[in-house]
Order: sequence, then structure tokens, then C-alpha cells
Amino acid sequence: MSNRKYYDCAKCPGYCCSYPLIALTKRDVERLAKHFDLSFNAARQKFTVERYGHKYSMRRKADEHFGRICRFFDTEKRRCTVYEARPAACRSYPGTRCGYYDFLKFERAAQEDEEFVSTTWNV
Ligand code: SF4
Ligand code: SF4
Repeated sequence: MSNRKYYDCAKCPGYCCSYPLIALTKRDVERLAKHFDLSFNAARQKFTVERYGHKYSMRRKADEHFGRICRFFDTEKRRCTVYEARPAACRSYPGTRCGYYDFLKFERAAQEDEEFVSTTWNV
């Protein structure tokens, strides 16, 4: 089976990190706590919030493109700042193909602008 990926996160403004709900498991919170040398409760409070019935979900912050984005996203460099300690949901996403990236490539080709950041929603 091919391991080829049809997307390039380095060229993307981080659509997936702007998703309104990034649910974390207890294990994810533990991993972040360890990464920042914090207690579980300190990490839970600092990094997560209870949202949409999920006990732990990622806190978010303001972002010029998407309105809100994951608190661990570097909004200048447009990348994750906790890559090694990122939650399971971020590790498994998106597989071999990313719908957001397909959309981005389509829009950039249409605009003839490789830097174009298209948004389809307001969050
Ligand atoms: S939306 Fe897709 S291409 Fe963009 S950062 Fe996320 S996984 Fe990578
Ligand atoms: S932890 Fe990293 S990969 Fe996951 S949503 Fe936040 S910035 Fe994106």
C-alpha cells in the first residue's frame, strides 16, 4: 500500500486546528501535562474546557483567518507548537487525503494566488 499523502500541512493555514471542537482524552491531557511539567489538574485547567458534552476539549484563541483556533497553534508560523505532545485526534487526522487541502488547492488555483487563504465559515 502506498504511503503517499495528498496534502502538505506546511502550505496550509491550519483549517483542522480551527475546528470548533477538538476533543481530548484523559491520556491526551496527561501527555500535555507531562510535556509542560504540570500536574494533571493544572494542565486540564490551563489547556482544556468542557464543551459540547466533552469533558476535555482544547481551549482556543483568536485568529485572523478563522476567528478562533487551537491555543497551541502558532498564528504567525501557522503550525502546531506541541507537535510531539499533540492529542490523538490530531495524530490520526486526516489520513492520506485532506478535504481542506483539496479545497485550498482548488481555491488557490482559481485565484492564481499560492498564498490565498479561503474561508468558508465564520467561527
Ligand atoms: S487542514 Fe489538512 S493540510 Fe491543513 S494543516 Fe490540517 S491536515 Fe494539514
Ligand atoms: S494540538 Fe496542534 S495539531 Fe492539534 S489542533 Fe492544536 S495546534 Fe492543531
